[in-house]
Amino acid sequence: MSVLFDRIALIGIGLIGSSLAHDIRRLGLTKEIVVATRSADTLKRAEELGLGDRYTTSSAEAVADADLIIVSVPVGASESVAKEIAGNLKPGAIVTDVGSTKASVIAQMQPHMPENVHFIPGHPLAGTEKSGPDAGFPGLFEGRWCIFTPVAGTDETALKRLRGFWQALGSKVDEMDAEHHDKVLAIVSHLPHIIAYNIVGTADDLETVTESEVIKYSASGFRDFTRLAASDPTMWRDVCLHNRDAILEMLARFSEDLAYLQRAIRWGEGDKIFELFTRTRAIRRSIVQAGQDVDAPDFGRPHPLDKK
Ligand code: NAP
Repeated sequence: MSVLFDRIALIGIGLIGSSLAHDIRRLGLTKEIVVATRSADTLKRAEELGLGDRYTTSSAEAVADADLIIVSVPVGASESVAKEIAGNLKPGAIVTDVGSTKASVIAQMQPHMPENVHFIPGHPLAGTEKSGPDAGFPGLFEGRWCIFTPVAGTDETALKRLRGFWQALGSKVDEMDAEHHDKVLAIVSHLPHIIAYNIVGTADDLETVTESEVIKYSASGFRDFTRLAASDPTMWRDVCLHNRDAILEMLARFSEDLAYLQRAIRWGEGDKIFELFTRTRAIRRSIVQAGQDVDAPDFGRPHPLDKK
């Protein structure tokens, strides 16, 4: 593959930043990767893993002369990063981010972006419950969507260059406005995480079932929730605080629908329950058909007898 940007600065080198580093290197998309992160410990680990060519704890220093800057920090830190890098950006550079919420990131970053740089907010729909520089791996973005939420007046050439970058990583690129993104993500990502955090918290708080029983007898349904509920607390606190309106709207709908289900269970209305469970099963089939997941039972996880 060919060099798309002479120098790429990665601000934040956790799961997403380090996965980007692996792929940029593997695919030869730049001549130089500059890695910046807030703490000396994370920086040292990034260096041990060989994620970049140069390393610094100063975001301002990292962006100097960079052609593409990718900000991969918790969304609540977007404004402080924008302020820090604003004065050192090269004219014509593209500044993008990977934050899970978009309206808030735009509100935090855009006011600080100089006129002569291209600020293009983005969000790759790819990740795991792990965090930190050790969590990244090559191919994370392969076959996944990356959504851009461009602001008014975005330069078409810059958009095309950034699209080319994500496509080189194997992603499919889509565009929508930030408010719409935040609503869509509230239902497909943010609510499932909140529900998972809540159900695992409820199990932890139960007085009639001991914690050791929850762990000992955890069925696959509960275990699937614990995977989501093990996600990074800082990242998810920030998502909750920075997509508040859309999340509250979806939670209100969710609570209404849960009350409907609760009522159907209370009154023994099997038809209603069966109709809902049939509809939801079809959604799973559509996701598999769209190539967004595998059809294998239990997500294809190995079981004891598979090893024999
Ligand atoms: P992560 O693994 O926890 O890494 C976070 C990085 O941001 C680290 O380099 C950390 O630096 C830095 N950081 C943390 N707090 C900061 C602050 N207050 N100021 C400046 N830097 C700070 O996180 P991640 O999973 O890569 O997530 C990064 C972004 O990607 C988030 O906005 C998230 O919403 C988005 N995203 C995540 C996923 C996912 O599944 N994880 C998927 C799509 C998008 P130090 O370690 O040096 O403190």
